[in-house]
Amino acid sequence: MGGLIALLLLVWLIAVVVLVLHYRNLLASLWAEPVLRRPVLIIESDDWGAGPLDQVEGLQRLAAILSGYSDRDGRHPVMTLGLVLASADTKAIQANGLTQYQRLGLGEECYAALRQSIAAGVEQKVFAIQLHGMEHYWPPALMQSASSEDAVRQWLIADEFPQTEQLPSHLQSRWINAAVLPATSLAADQITAAVSEEVAVYHSLFAKADSVVVPPTFVWNQLVEQAWAKNGIDVLVTPGQRYEGRDAAGRITPSTKRIFNGQRSEDGLIYIVRDDYFEPSLGHRSEGVVSALKAKSSAGRPTLLETHRFNFIGTEQKTAAAFHELEKLLARVSRDFPETAFISTAELARVYRDNDLVWLADGFAVRVQTLINRCRAEYGLWRSFKLTGLALLLTVVAMFLPIAQDNIRGRA
Ligand SMILES: [Zn+2]
Repeated sequence: MGGLIALLLLVWLIAVVVLVLHYRNLLASLWAEPVLRRPVLIIESDDWGAGPLDQVEGLQRLAAILSGYSDRDGRHPVMTLGLVLASADTKAIQANGLTQYQRLGLGEECYAALRQSIAAGVEQKVFAIQLHGMEHYWPPALMQSASSEDAVRQWLIADEFPQTEQLPSHLQSRWINAAVLPATSLAADQITAAVSEEVAVYHSLFAKADSVVVPPTFVWNQLVEQAWAKNGIDVLVTPGQRYEGRDAAGRITPSTKRIFNGQRSEDGLIYIVRDDYFEPSLGHRSEGVVSALKAKSSAGRPTLLETHRFNFIGTEQKTAAAFHELEKLLARVSRDFPETAFISTAELARVYRDNDLVWLADGFAVRVQTLINRCRAEYGLWRSFKLTGLALLLTVVAMFLPIAQDNIRGRA
């Protein structure tokens, strides 16, 4: 009998060892990712800048809402603004018969009030500026498509300040040529020139801009990363994966790289993961954000909410619900999760870069508990752990470890 038990135990141990070896790279990455001591909430909003002029009103309302809340250290919630620095000069392009691309930059007089509302929010510390791109497309691909696709031609002639959100989604990727699908890569010298130009314009427009970039539609490659790093960008916001292309149907191709918070790129950029969502006009509600905040915080991770300008511009009828939902979200977080810190993405990256122990936990037991919580969020790994009973064992172990973030349960 004793022999049988010993044999079963041995078989189980071998299974566990095989499993751990199989997942060793993932486990090492989960362990290496720094552990935040406090919940951190950042609202990351993209697509602001060149485009419709009613963004001014949207930004002013957002600033008014955000400035009404503070964390326990007196910091307002930060909404990052991923800025697009130029769009098509539709009048000029129409004048040349749609034969040549012409750019209308965010530095032009027509955008003075928009630049002012962005700068005012930065002064109030409710906005933080991030680079989204010179354009929200690759201009040669846009012009090539205009010659064959009616929808793109219409986009260029219908509106003086068109919204890139209304372009076919594959054309909204900047760092590929998606005029013909499947998309093709850009030449290295095209990438180098475009990146150095956009980074220079970005800093010339906004003295207080953070050296943070968010790739449009999250499609980019190693060459683009290299160019950003060379031009002084420090931080790259990602969805936790790197996507590099578009397939024959225009869909984003499978990830080529898994990415973790605080990880360094080959070129020295700090990666940040943004994979929670708050797009009220698509039905996202504050309750979903609260669940995300709990899950991320118990894994020692920040909660970065992706949102876009389209929720907050347009008619009152279209935007009222989005502003209301944002108010609800901030009120709920402030009331039920008072430990939550509101910082910018650039500041979060600094915490990781400096290994700042004011913000990061370094206790062994806390890190083990966090690792277990991170394992739970890995679907394939946790399923295998369940099958072997390892999940149960780890859950019991976690119960005896100090709680990393007692506050994440909230008061609700
Ligand atoms: Zn975008």
